[in-house]
Amino acid sequence: MRVAVFGAGYAGLTLARELEPALPEDTELVVVDEDGSHLVQHELHRIVRHPGLADEIVVDLDEVLDRATVREATVTDVDTEAGVATLDHGDAVPGAGDGESTEIVGEPTATDGETHLDYDVGAVCLGAATNYYDLPGVADCAAPLKRLDHAERIRADCFDAVESASPEDPARIVVGGAGLSGVQVAGELTALAREEGLRDATEVVLLEQEATVAPRFPENFQRAVRDELARRDVRVETRRTVARADEETITFTDDETMASDQFVWTGGIRGPDALDGERPVVRNTLRYEDGTFVVGDAGRIVDTDGEAVPASAQAAIREAGVAADNIVRLVDHERSGGGGFEPRLDGYRFDSLGWLVSVGDGAVAQVGPTVVTGQAAKALKTSVGAGYLSSVGAVENAVDLVREEVGWPEGDDESVEKSA
Ligand SMILES: Cc1cc2nc3c(=O)[nH]c(=O)nc-3n(C[C@H](O)[C@H](O)[C@H](O)COP(=O)(O)OP(=O)(O)OC[C@H]3O[C@@H](n4cnc5c(N)ncnc54)[C@H](O)[C@@H]3O)c2cc1C
Repeated sequence: MRVAVFGAGYAGLTLARELEPALPEDTELVVVDEDGSHLVQHELHRIVRHPGLADEIVVDLDEVLDRATVREATVTDVDTEAGVATLDHGDAVPGAGDGESTEIVGEPTATDGETHLDYDVGAVCLGAATNYYDLPGVADCAAPLKRLDHAERIRADCFDAVESASPEDPARIVVGGAGLSGVQVAGELTALAREEGLRDATEVVLLEQEATVAPRFPENFQRAVRDELARRDVRVETRRTVARADEETITFTDDETMASDQFVWTGGIRGPDALDGERPVVRNTLRYEDGTFVVGDAGRIVDTDGEAVPASAQAAIREAGVAADNIVRLVDHERSGGGGFEPRLDGYRFDSLGWLVSVGDGAVAQVGPTVVTGQAAKALKTSVGAGYLSSVGAVENAVDLVREEVGWPEGDDESVEKSA
């Protein structure tokens, strides 16, 4: 039997790591990811200010997976009913004599670089893509923030934008969309401007079409985030709906305009191309269709209370735990002949531990009814990031992340060993 996990973000990596010890030995486990690495996306905005952090937040899959076969390929289509995925290997066609990757997973087809991978049980964990809602000019002018190269582009664009800026003629950087990623990248951009001595020559504006920042989150968190943004020099404009954009101007639905020297778009998500851009509605067992599960941001998950689960790293990780148990039950059932009733599958219930964002050098943490800001929130943010990295087996990355945050000296190996 073959179990396939498509995408190795929070959902896919957690799922694969839980499946590794739990699946029977003769069940093949394949993980397909487009670049063979795991990105700690909830720290991605920090690359805008600290490009060197890439080493800490990108984890090589071969280092944290054991028995799974890692296949580096782009999933271009998943036939969820038939249980077949189409993989694009680019130039590296498996079996074409390229040494390491000669093992064939799926049969190469006539199309260059393309294979089909069939699976008995599969999990689509491809995450979400940026949604521009077909707004004219926005995809062309605004940088998204989903992958490492996006963050690097935002940093480069920022330096371009401020190059000839002065306090008399400040550069305006506009971030569209005040969810978790928008809030955090706006905070990094103001902090970067300050670090470069350009505080008075740069204005960062965060736009949100709804009435509040962080619109999907608890009210006390929203208020604290807004206060922190103000403290960190981010100008927030709510009830602002972008209609279109060009290189210099953003136009709103009420026909008002705003000049902009740089535009970053964090205004929404859509499903992966492999699912035709859709985020299918998935019930609480995470089973979408027959042997296909959808886990994490790739789907619209509805939990056991009938509530829509927010697209977030913390939900993706916990969904993966439930999906892993359910997949093992289905595999066991199939291996024992597949007769009789199917096994009962567990449901996922979203129960947030709280929310945590950084805003430049500040942070806001909401734990139940309590909101914490300042150093305590920063420490929490660091420990959550490091705890996550440790939980997926990337202990050295975790140590380096903490070192970076608390300013441990380089090469303090003794403390590294003790922590690891
Ligand atoms: C800047 C930023 C800050 C954030 N902050 C927070 C936060 O503080 N807290 C929080 O809970 N959430 C946060 N989020 C949201 C969180 O990162 C996402 O909800 C989370 O990454 C979803 O996990 P996932 O596993 O579903 O998808 P992803 O983490 O996006 O993983 C998808 C994986 O699939 C791979 N992949 C995608 N397409 C293909 C393809 N076609 N073929 C092969 N592989 C593919 C990708 O390489 C990736 O490894 C933040 C997001 C951003 C961008």
